[in-house]
Amino acid sequence: MEDVAIVGGGPVGMLLAAELGLQGVRPLVLERLPVPSGESKAGTLHARTAQSLDRRGLLDAVGRVSTGSVRFHFSGMFGLDLGAVAEDGVSIVGSPQAWAERVFARRATALGARIERGQEVTGLVRHDDHVVLSVGGQEVAARYVVGADGARSAVRRAAGIPFTGTAARVAALMGDVRLLDPYGVPPGYTRTPRGWIIVWLNPAGHSRVTTYDFRAPHADRQAPVTLGELREAAEHVLGRPVPMADPGSLSRYGDAALQATTYREGRVLLAGDAAHVHFPWGGQGLNTGLEDAFNLGWKLAAQIRGQAPAGLLDTYHAERHPVAARVLWNVRAQTALADPDPSVDPLRELFAELMAVDGVNEHLSGMISGTHTVYDVGVPGAGRMAADLTLKTAAGPATLVELLRAGRPLLLDLAGRDDLVAESAGWSDRVDVVRAAADHPAEALLIRPDGYVAWTSEAAGHPLRDALERWFGPA
Ligand SMILES: Cc1cc2nc3c(=O)[nH]c(=O)nc-3n(C[C@H](O)[C@H](O)[C@H](O)COP(=O)(O)OP(=O)(O)OC[C@H]3O[C@@H](n4cnc5c(N)ncnc54)[C@H](O)[C@@H]3O)c2cc1C
Repeated sequence: MEDVAIVGGGPVGMLLAAELGLQGVRPLVLERLPVPSGESKAGTLHARTAQSLDRRGLLDAVGRVSTGSVRFHFSGMFGLDLGAVAEDGVSIVGSPQAWAERVFARRATALGARIERGQEVTGLVRHDDHVVLSVGGQEVAARYVVGADGARSAVRRAAGIPFTGTAARVAALMGDVRLLDPYGVPPGYTRTPRGWIIVWLNPAGHSRVTTYDFRAPHADRQAPVTLGELREAAEHVLGRPVPMADPGSLSRYGDAALQATTYREGRVLLAGDAAHVHFPWGGQGLNTGLEDAFNLGWKLAAQIRGQAPAGLLDTYHAERHPVAARVLWNVRAQTALADPDPSVDPLRELFAELMAVDGVNEHLSGMISGTHTVYDVGVPGAGRMAADLTLKTAAGPATLVELLRAGRPLLLDLAGRDDLVAESAGWSDRVDVVRAAADHPAEALLIRPDGYVAWTSEAAGHPLRDALERWFGPA
């Protein structure tokens, strides 16, 4: 019997496997593809994901980090500065999805996860104390199953979890092609009265061309895309010839915005695209999925170890479902603003003006980059990601980011609070205590393995003991 079987070895499944491995649980990953596809839909990781990856020592491995001011868009309007909300300095990371997936897989394997490729899960049967998966005529039993198997999740369907939301109305095509008149095509995001064309121009090689046709959704999402279809879509949007050749990575998608009604049905959990899908405005999908993995990993591991307090695993849905619901909402708003009908032009102009207001910029940038994510942990002033701190400890200087890399809960005593250290003694097997001096207003913080603050000494009337019990079980 496996402790945890993860179905789907995409980036989210692989990161979850690494997170479980860090907690001493060795999951089995069942991946349909015999070898990784090597294709990258996503290329952008945002500030919150960067913070989480840094707290695992994975940030530098996944891609190219940008700090400071970074121009970004909302619905194709480049008025945002993501640097305004980058808490630890990293504003954005250029990270091809296939590369990040490889980095996570390597980490997962090093921590004891087993990755079995060429294994397609076709069904599951739930029992009181385990789940049985059907995998290529064989059965695999596991105490818990996580469906990280993408938008068309077989796990979600077999578990009977509804996937609800709004249907597609836009038909998007994407491909890497050689543009035969590269300077005849506008680079970047272009909206015309007939739709959108987005071109990442490489005049000397393959350019990535994407089209958004608002007339109707794809009749058949699975139909293979041809070069002619992409060319016709580009020509329809621009209203002139767009000669192209040598296609690669042709794909079609739509703007359906759907979410699983529950992320947990007994012993079956969902993460990543299996739990939420939407149009890729702002590059938020993978980021949301990776944050699912950081949230779920330590909770599921505690459940497997028998140390999870009642209800801990349910906080995964309680915390992560609203985050993705908000992403779906901002993405729907971006699609509505992107409508090519000229009647939307004044709204876009007004919106562009508003984005120049600092407060609006921060609001939208915090939403897109995930840095405004706060969980309701029941303690005023807590629930935010603990920003990095420089600490002076008896053992020498350290940063909070470094201390969190072990993936263990941390009681940070910043004011010689012997009373709090004594109060936490009953959790010394699960919670590390670090006494340090730092430039921080609180005298003590309790930080969860995912880096979020579970308790702060500034919350009067909220004893540390309650928070320790709530997140890490009885003393
Ligand atoms: C054009 C485009 C651009 C995007 N850009 C960004 C971006 O910049 N930033 C961002 O954050 N997001 C972006 N996204 C979204 C992002 O690509 C997805 O959110 C991401 O792939 C989700 O990762 P995942 O691991 O949940 O699912 P997937 O990547 O879909 O992986 C699922 C895995 O499960 C396997 N699998 C499926 N079914 C089974 C089965 N039955 N049994 C076993 N294995 C199975 C699959 O082979 C696959 O390996 C973009 C999406 C698109 C379409």
